[in-house]
Amino acid sequence: MTDPVGIAPLPAVAADPVSLYVHVPFCISKCAYCDFYSRAGGEALRGPFVDAALFEAGHWSHYDLLDDVPSLYIGGGTPTLLGQDLVRLVRGLIETARLRPGAEVTVETNPETTDAALVAALIEAGVNRFSLGVQSFDDDVLRRLGRCHDAERGRAATRILRDSGASFSIDLICGVRGQSAASWEATLQEAVRCGARHVSVYPLAVEDGTPLDASIRSGVVPAPDPDDAADMMLAAEVVLTAAGMPRYEVASYAQPGHEARHNLVYWTGGSYLGVGPHAASMLTAEQYGRVAGAEGWATPPSSDPLCARARFTREASLEDYVRRPLADPGPVEFLDTDEVAREDATLGLRTVGGISTAQAEAAQAVETLAGLAEQGLVRVVESETGEARWSTTQQGWLLGNRVFEAVWTGGGTQRS
Ligand code: SF4
Repeated sequence: MTDPVGIAPLPAVAADPVSLYVHVPFCISKCAYCDFYSRAGGEALRGPFVDAALFEAGHWSHYDLLDDVPSLYIGGGTPTLLGQDLVRLVRGLIETARLRPGAEVTVETNPETTDAALVAALIEAGVNRFSLGVQSFDDDVLRRLGRCHDAERGRAATRILRDSGASFSIDLICGVRGQSAASWEATLQEAVRCGARHVSVYPLAVEDGTPLDASIRSGVVPAPDPDDAADMMLAAEVVLTAAGMPRYEVASYAQPGHEARHNLVYWTGGSYLGVGPHAASMLTAEQYGRVAGAEGWATPPSSDPLCARARFTREASLEDYVRRPLADPGPVEFLDTDEVAREDATLGLRTVGGISTAQAEAAQAVETLAGLAEQGLVRVVESETGEARWSTTQQGWLLGNRVFEAVWTGGGTQRS
């Protein structure tokens, strides 16, 4: 059953340090497929948003949550739409949170707002990594996605980032109706040449309530074909691996040493605190207790000594957030130790390195995994250190949701 393929498990991230995520909810316009919380325009709220985010981060730093921050990620939305206010935000966050030496500091950007002077100012302020939403180097595909930039603007943005010397990642979307295999291949080849050290590849997902969803329901455009998307994901793996960027997670490819450290926190059970409207957080029960004790947020169930983790998403609208940045987040999900083990196993299986047999046992998932192995979705492989680990097969990668749902059965207890 053991298959010695020499995979390298991703480095474990200690649970105690808290990574910081800041959600910037502004975009130039809404893309057809997007269900992220962001506002087209909103100029008058941009400055007040930065003030509120800095106030909130400063507040949490008083509770020693931001003493040893391994990674800071400013996402959205389109953070670079803030211009100089983004530089102010980065400077303020770095003054407020104590970043670990060598911490990864990432800013998301989009082609239309990637400006050489702004990029230089952000690097000067402490940013060392950018994530660029290119999505495609084909104008027809970009139009179908409702993006507000063309392929040439995407190319110009990659040149700006490459010339800045900072490490950068690009996002690509596949499985778009009308996107040919040749178009996808050409986009992948440009991705390889553009200087990115990390590429994320996502199949187009149709989210409820988006313009794309409405167009499909009304028959204006056909739904994406999952088989086309699977073929394109397989093509991406071939091209990017051959270019020295092996896949290390469901959607993520990187040159060795350029894996997204902030995302690794999500997949390895690390703690993260989300600042801003609709930002998600996951903290240990002890860390959450400091927050709840101070603010009167939902308290962990005192009768449950096994309560180990709390996760929540700030429900406030942008307007409410700007008015009350410390307001309670809405429902908080508390996970006991068994649920934490299952969650960590589920998330760990997103990575190519998979999970150890000890993790599988802690999650009481060995039987489930054995059943998935019979279906050809997972297998036991031997890591570079000789450790046996459960990992998805290629089929399991493409049918990941089946694997994840099987391992994560039940879910946390909703209490507020
Ligand atoms: S740029 Fe990103 S966050 Fe903004 S609307 Fe498009 S997909 Fe959504």
